[in-house]
Amino acid sequence: MLKSRKIPITKPLFSSEEENIAIEAIRSGWVTQGPRTAEFEKEFAKAVGADYACAVSSCTTAMHLGLLALGVKPGNVVLTVSHSFIATANCVRHAQAEPVFVDIDLQDYNMCPAALEGVLSEDCESRDNKLYYRNTDKLAKGESPLAYIDKNNKEYGRVGAILPVHQAGMPADIEAIKKVAAKYNIPVMEDAACASGSSITDPNSLKVKKIGAPHSELACFSLHPRKVITTGDGGMITTNNEEYDKYFRLYRQHGMGVSDLVRHSSKKVICEDYLVTGFNYRMTDIQSAVGLAQLKKLDDIVARRRRVADLYREGFKDLGWCKTPYENPYFSSCYQSYILRLVDDSVSQIDFMQYLVDNGVASKRGVMNAHQEPPYLPQEWDLPNSVTARDRCVLLPLFPTMEDEEIEYVMQIVKGYK
Ligand SMILES: *Cc1c(COP(=O)(O)O)cnc(C)c1O
Repeated sequence: MLKSRKIPITKPLFSSEEENIAIEAIRSGWVTQGPRTAEFEKEFAKAVGADYACAVSSCTTAMHLGLLALGVKPGNVVLTVSHSFIATANCVRHAQAEPVFVDIDLQDYNMCPAALEGVLSEDCESRDNKLYYRNTDKLAKGESPLAYIDKNNKEYGRVGAILPVHQAGMPADIEAIKKVAAKYNIPVMEDAACASGSSITDPNSLKVKKIGAPHSELACFSLHPRKVITTGDGGMITTNNEEYDKYFRLYRQHGMGVSDLVRHSSKKVICEDYLVTGFNYRMTDIQSAVGLAQLKKLDDIVARRRRVADLYREGFKDLGWCKTPYENPYFSSCYQSYILRLVDDSVSQIDFMQYLVDNGVASKRGVMNAHQEPPYLPQEWDLPNSVTARDRCVLLPLFPTMEDEEIEYVMQIVKGYK
């Protein structure tokens, strides 16, 4: 029936609302970081339950600013996962620091709190009340900033931050991670690129807290079309710390001491100063306008995504050769991606993906691992769960406008494999 049609892995949900609001922004003549960006930030903060939200150009730039705000210095290390989109590791290097990779849990494909504790207790040591990663020689290779930063610098090898990821929208066990981090007094920032609309329920109070509330110092979101809501490209940083928010606003716009919004609405002449060496990490007002329209749809988009995930779970429950995503009963995923793991060794990932393509169903290999890519390859890492997740998982089509017929078709094809 649908054989001639190709079912894509994802498709953004746009309608005339996005078109009209983008036209309004263009016609207003104020096309970057103006009133629409301010409104989008306010609405985004409200949607996740954060005190502050700052719009930037991508999640990568959001995380760069986030790490700097947390005090990560050249020569530091940041504990994160390899099993993520490469931007997670790269943003650490943008801050002139080096990632130390912690293995994931195969249950949720997120940072394993016990593995984190293992790295902090076994691979790090305390000097002058600060925590240092011991084996910096293992890191100081290839493109690593540690290869050219002076070893005698007191920041060299210091653990600057912990950066867990809510992979594919599935919340990481952030409370457990925070507990470990607090023991060692290390700040935590969340890579929430995929997690717009995901949440965690407190098992005691039963209060639902959205990812981005935030659960840690800061959370960084992506608004790329592959994510849950999109502005074409874009990012958002949420925090409850006013000082961090001020920092982001200063650094995203060339270190300019007053914002355009303040300058343009002032009745007096204002000559701005440039207080620090900043960046251009701005979001345009055309993007923000689209973001406002997308944000209104977020709950509906997440409900639709979760419905597809529910149907998949039910449909695949009797297949012994694959495993559907585990969702902790207190966690709620936006299912930015649907990760199916091949648990039967006789099923080849490539053969299965080829079979899907042959039948008009797009798929993707499991999430990549930064430590297996050229910029990080000179280093040697032992991350067995991360490798398994990359090589034994397949991402299936899942998008909010997926029709019942399409969902049914994907399930039929998958079930027909073995
Ligand atoms: C997509 C993604 C990023 C990068 O987001 P951009 O907005 O493209 O910079 C970072 N981390 C994760 C986990 C992602 O999936």
